[in-house]
Amino acid sequence: MHNVTLIKGDGIGPAIMAEAVKVIDASGVRINWELAEAGLAAHEQHGTPIPETTIESFTRNRVAFKGPLTTLSGSGFRSINVVLRQKFELYANVRPAKSWNGVETRYQDIDIVIVRENTEGLYAGLEHYLTPKKDIAESLAVVTREGSERIVHYAFQYARDNNRKKVTVCHKANILKYTQGLFLGVAKEIAPQYPDIEYDEKIIDAACMHLVMNPHQFDVIVTTNMFGDLLSDLTAGLVGGLGLIPGANIGTDAALFEAVHGSAPDIAGKNIANPTAVIMAGVMMLKHLGEHDAAERIKTAVEKVVNEGVSVTRDLNASSKAGTAEMGDAICAAMI
Ligand code: NAD
Repeated sequence: MHNVTLIKGDGIGPAIMAEAVKVIDASGVRINWELAEAGLAAHEQHGTPIPETTIESFTRNRVAFKGPLTTLSGSGFRSINVVLRQKFELYANVRPAKSWNGVETRYQDIDIVIVRENTEGLYAGLEHYLTPKKDIAESLAVVTREGSERIVHYAFQYARDNNRKKVTVCHKANILKYTQGLFLGVAKEIAPQYPDIEYDEKIIDAACMHLVMNPHQFDVIVTTNMFGDLLSDLTAGLVGGLGLIPGANIGTDAALFEAVHGSAPDIAGKNIANPTAVIMAGVMMLKHLGEHDAAERIKTAVEKVVNEGVSVTRDLNASSKAGTAEMGDAICAAMI
């Protein structure tokens, strides 16, 4: 029996997490789901977007499964996603984007893993106004040698452990010579320690162009916090959209699993959100928990349903009448 902190989240969160829990439970793996709250709903109900009981639960269980959380733009409380990643030092954000046989996209056979530094950079949360009139604002990017070393090592070790061939460092060290220069310098130092893995580096703007024009040249990408955030939505777009892409937030003694996408308020409450991304995040979680058989069975069932393209949400098949719940049921039924 595994104890896992379950945060259903905002917007489409409760609906897709219900399907993910249903599928994971149907796999036969025994999980004691410890319900905890966070995000906009928690803020409205408890006056705080991250109640202490949620922190206690995650501290105790060291594994969390989380739905997306709403963070208002330009005002309101700080992103609870960022708070959790920093507080539990979940320094590696792993976001795999892989083509599905049954999902029609511009390219086939894409298999890219973004390894994003998850605790530093421009998301360090160091922002302020410089004038009483609030007409000049400043955000500070923090890059440390220690933080860069651990994420670059993580990316190369991930490549080695997962039989991958190449790590590409994406950076902007030509302009940001200190922060990005430090990150790139560390990567150059560490790369020779992994002679079995090819090393490449690309300036972030050119990397975006290369990803759109020739994505097959990429394998594992390692990059700083904000670039990783942006690139992972781009790679999601290459393989069929945000409804399909899971993410793992890994630290040395805690891990949190979620979709790459957000709370999608535009489709919340309509039973049309694709539960695949959070279900595949559940697959990543089960592997982390050592439940490889259950993970494989769920992955195979999801692939069957997505690739058949019948009982899928309308982001995958515009003429489909199936909703979030029907897709979850189909995945349960496809499990052998
Ligand atoms: P979003 O990822 O929620 O949605 C972007 C687009 O993708 C929308 O059109 C949405 O309908 C679609 N989409 C997302 N998930 C989908 C799914 N499962 N199935 C089908 N379509 C899906 O991004 P946004 O609209 O820019 O942000 C909404 C909120 O989510 C914001 O408050 C943002 O801060 C938050 N957010 C949270 C996380 C997180 O919790 N990890 C990540 C990103 C954004």
